[in-house]
Amino acid sequence: MPVNARWAVALSAGVLAGLAALVARGEPPPLDARLSVRGGSLPAAQRASAALARIPARFAPARVRLEQRPILGVECERETGSLLLGNSAVELPDSVWLHELAHVRMHGARPQAPLAQRVLTAFEEGVADHYAAVFSGSPRLGFGAEQRDLRQPPSLGPSDWASLAFPSFDPHRMGWGLAAALYAAEPRAGALLETALACLDGTGPLAEADTPARAISSLLASCPESGKQRMRDVLNDWLPPAFLNESSPP
Ligand SMILES: [Zn+2]
Repeated sequence: MPVNARWAVALSAGVLAGLAALVARGEPPPLDARLSVRGGSLPAAQRASAALARIPARFAPARVRLEQRPILGVECERETGSLLLGNSAVELPDSVWLHELAHVRMHGARPQAPLAQRVLTAFEEGVADHYAAVFSGSPRLGFGAEQRDLRQPPSLGPSDWASLAFPSFDPHRMGWGLAAALYAAEPRAGALLETALACLDGTGPLAEADTPARAISSLLASCPESGKQRMRDVLNDWLPPAFLNESSPP
């Protein structure tokens, strides 16, 4: 046996023995190196680490800061791209952790104008649900009254989109329709999800948009050229026509 091969065998035997010793002692694996922990319980950090480990590198956030906050569950803080850990975070299903990690991955600039911001928030919620479904391996997301099944989205009509004008606008429900279309087109992580993430994680022109139509136009401008047409087709199926034509009033 060549020297290198002997070393490889000895090394893997050593690694396996080390892992076996860890398991025998009941010690958890070390936290993912991309996490920086600034508070929160160790079990919550371990849940974040396990969720992050399920995401291939090209879809994952490069860094994730964990912070403890007086909230319920877990959520992403847009300004800093941090994952905020609150009470009962450890009890949440994987799909919720993955959904929030998607928000961390997409924490690029957003418009200040309310309607433009709301339509992009709905888009982001839809992409986060698609992300959670492909990396959790199930189209059924969340739990209890918050559960969303991407095989059974709500049908969205003009009155749903009219709600964009009101603070009661529900971006999760509107995003559900988009997530269902993305999941039907690509039930495993691939080019469509990669394009959607790339549209939202940059510093692009999104922050300047002052109407829904301009927000969508900026979103498409931020898309990589290779995925632009496919994303345009998805948006055509999801949005009312007025949002797809920048020259129209909304
Ligand atoms: Zn969300």
